[in-house]
Amino acid sequence: MQRWNGWGDDSIAHPVQPTAARMLADELGPGTPPRDATLDDVLATVPTSRLPAHSLVSVDPNERLRHARGQSLPDWVALRSGRIGVFPDGVARPQHPEEVDELLDRALTWGAAAIPFGGGTSVVGHVNPQEGDTPTVTIDLRRMNRLLDLDAESRLATFQAGVSGPELEAQLRAVGLTLGHFPQSFEYSTLGGWIATRSSGQQSLGYGRIEDLFAGGVLRSPAGVVSLPPLPASAAGPDLRQLVLGSEGRAGVVTEATVRVVPLPESEEFHAAFFPDFAGGREAIRNLVQEQLPLSMLRLSTADETRVSLTLAGHRRQLALLERYLGARGVGSEKAMLLMGFTGAQARRARRVGLQVVRSHGGVPLGRSLGARWKKGRFALPYLRNTLWDMGYAVDTLETATTWKALPGLMTAIDDALSGALPNERVLVFSHISHVYPDGAATYVTYVFRSSPDPDETLSRWKTLKNAASRAIAGNGGTISHQHGVGTDHRPYLEAEKSAAGLSALRAALGALDPEGIMNPGKLVR
Ligand SMILES: Cc1cc2nc3c(=O)[nH]c(=O)nc-3n(C[C@H](O)[C@H](O)[C@H](O)COP(=O)(O)OP(=O)(O)OC[C@H]3O[C@@H](n4cnc5c(N)ncnc54)[C@H](O)[C@@H]3O)c2cc1C
Repeated sequence: MQRWNGWGDDSIAHPVQPTAARMLADELGPGTPPRDATLDDVLATVPTSRLPAHSLVSVDPNERLRHARGQSLPDWVALRSGRIGVFPDGVARPQHPEEVDELLDRALTWGAAAIPFGGGTSVVGHVNPQEGDTPTVTIDLRRMNRLLDLDAESRLATFQAGVSGPELEAQLRAVGLTLGHFPQSFEYSTLGGWIATRSSGQQSLGYGRIEDLFAGGVLRSPAGVVSLPPLPASAAGPDLRQLVLGSEGRAGVVTEATVRVVPLPESEEFHAAFFPDFAGGREAIRNLVQEQLPLSMLRLSTADETRVSLTLAGHRRQLALLERYLGARGVGSEKAMLLMGFTGAQARRARRVGLQVVRSHGGVPLGRSLGARWKKGRFALPYLRNTLWDMGYAVDTLETATTWKALPGLMTAIDDALSGALPNERVLVFSHISHVYPDGAATYVTYVFRSSPDPDETLSRWKTLKNAASRAIAGNGGTISHQHGVGTDHRPYLEAEKSAAGLSALRAALGALDPEGIMNPGKLVR
């Protein structure tokens, strides 16, 4: 069963190796396990619903609790401490588009806010109801999970938008196809959520980001239905798909989406290579992406992340052997690990040329075994967050993108901002280049700090860290988000990126689809 106060299935545990536990204690100090609120305690705090009774809307406290928060660190503090704050007044799980229309009509007559809800994996406060006198109905789309149409000739598949990653891939796999969109939240996140947040999968280099994969669909807004035909290209004015991508539930509910699919790859391999330092690896991957080699993934860890990843993996004896082997080839303590994905018909050529480029930059290829281990555990790592929380350590991540030229300065600025943000606590910061483009790259930063027995203090530490990192991003040419979206947490930084005039154009466009402002108020833009 899905956990109500953490990540994933509650029957799955991700233990921390003793060496990794020692590393955390050495680097951050001993953790104090927090005292979590029980489910019964929290359910007892759910207030009476302010919505009139309706056959599509459940006011069950358990449903309302499970839709009150997403997966951001403030959400975790709220769920674990039992201080949820605001609950939705009701939760609907429509099965048909007509039911979505009915819910939006009801929300208008009740004067209620409506929050579209996919997998609830948002990490920036997207799905949380806002404080105030307006009641909220959350519209959970997960019962709308069917493949509606497959145009094999055009390689287009149309799904109901509440389909989760595994459900979508299973339906495509049955006919020899794949979408290839694998965010780390794949297990729970949904197609509609990916579109509404402009999500990026781990193999976006090969398959494309969601905006490349989203060919069309249907948006049901309070102002009416917007149909987006899946045209391969069009010069008929601005592309309205771009208004739906990243709309974060503010424009309406995406009920259907047509996506570009491809045949399942005949082969797929992930290889690891180590560079003597991060700068050398960075030059190698810039070269690889600018040469337009058909790779499906390039992921380069900093020296700190390489060290932490190898420690987390455990296996001390194997690690010692690896270090001896790399040391003999000139790769020492500053080593940076690269993971490369070779997928599909051109995998062999990509591997041959790719590994040549790695070698020409001083890299040492290590073959498939570390890559295979990464592939096996690619969706399991978030479970570690549960274990670390129980040990008294809070883990959060953030991400941004910029040009190749600005990237080194941006990464250093974020690292410095996070490392020095807390006056009395140490912070473990590590990062990798996660998505690459010919003109720049995205970096994904993980930071770990001790939680406090006092949830307010943990939240205050997080706010200090998040503000410091966000200021470093905005001040060093980065986007406030490459893949997680804006929600509430990134909203204060949006104007600097989009300009005041740009934001008012966005507000006006959203307002035309939602004149009464009922759709997910407070997110993305005010
Ligand atoms: C452990 C973990 C790993 C993650 N890894 C990645 C990653 O690799 N790449 C990445 O891009 N993101 C990642 N994320 C962030 C998150 O998974 C994405 O933002 C994802 O796209 C959210 O999808 P969801 O279905 O869970 O949407 P939700 O969290 O339910 O909703 C997100 C937003 O989309 C809106 N929305 C949802 N469905 C619809 C719909 N049908 N119509 C209109 N609006 C809708 C909601 O109103 C909300 O504003 C990760 C999150 C976690 C917790």
